[in-house]
Amino acid sequence: VAKIIDGKAVAQHVRAQCREETAALKARGVTPGLAVIIVGDNPASKVYVANKVKACTEVGLHSTVYAFAADTPDAEVEAKILALNADPLVHGILVQLPLPKHFDAKRVLAAISVDKDVDGFHLYNVGALAQGETVFPPCTPYGVSKMLEYENIPIEGQNVVVVGASNIVGKPMAMMLMQRDATVCICHAKTRDLAQFTILADILVVAAGVPNLILPQMVRTGAVVIDVGINRLPDGRLVGDVDFEGVRQKASYISPVPGGVGPMTITMLVHNTIQAARRQAELAEG
Ligand code: NAD
Repeated sequence: VAKIIDGKAVAQHVRAQCREETAALKARGVTPGLAVIIVGDNPASKVYVANKVKACTEVGLHSTVYAFAADTPDAEVEAKILALNADPLVHGILVQLPLPKHFDAKRVLAAISVDKDVDGFHLYNVGALAQGETVFPPCTPYGVSKMLEYENIPIEGQNVVVVGASNIVGKPMAMMLMQRDATVCICHAKTRDLAQFTILADILVVAAGVPNLILPQMVRTGAVVIDVGINRLPDGRLVGDVDFEGVRQKASYISPVPGGVGPMTITMLVHNTIQAARRQAELAEG
């Protein structure tokens, strides 16, 4: 039976380091600051933003939320981003996705200064990640990497299968683990016979948004299974993409939903904001 990777415990561990770094920065007169932009009233987005603010406060960062109505013109949101780019008290800028349909999300994200792009979605940082140089790895896959590190799970030479190829999770996850010399395979909705790939995985990362996508017969005995999916069932329960009870009988490690990757994502956002503050302070000090 698999060991359950306790995302809350790993998050607490990383947050303790974040608190120390924040205290050290404050002693130098720098309080790391995050600005969050939210447009429209997507209820899930509101919950995510509230949790991000809470995490910042807990660690000692300051944060400000800028909420815009759904019908706000793109230009107004972009103007706010440009003002935040120039504000020395703001070290990280995050635009909560998804944006309302009329927005050109790529353009909006491109307006964020690459030095303040704590979500790592600016094309510059995406390119840097592809070359293994980014300072702002996207928070969810970064959180998964930290969980693997915390459990001392080897990555070099391992077969990694990532299910899901989104820009936010699947692709950057694959990049990060390839950078660590894993052999990486990415599967997605058009993959024929998913099981023929997943069965090869020493480490299986699943981010598809499909409940019960991964069944025990698709998993190698002893595999490490990380479930990124978050799905709300009609009965109100929150589940991942993995048949948790079935797969945990075969895996060596498994991350649960909730209490797995979720707490890590927000923690890595706080971490990235602190790194942004540290870098900007170093640049300012010369
Ligand atoms: P997305 O919808 O942008 O991408 C989903 C990907 O999964 C696509 O590449 C798609 O081709 C693939 N996919 C869909 N159905 C599939 C199937 N049947 N077989 C194989 N591949 C399939 O979603 P996303 O933003 O990458 O998020 C994925 C999941 O992770 C969602 O459930 C989301 O809620 C969750 N998520 C969790 C966190 C967290 O903090 N834990 C963060 C981001 C996303």
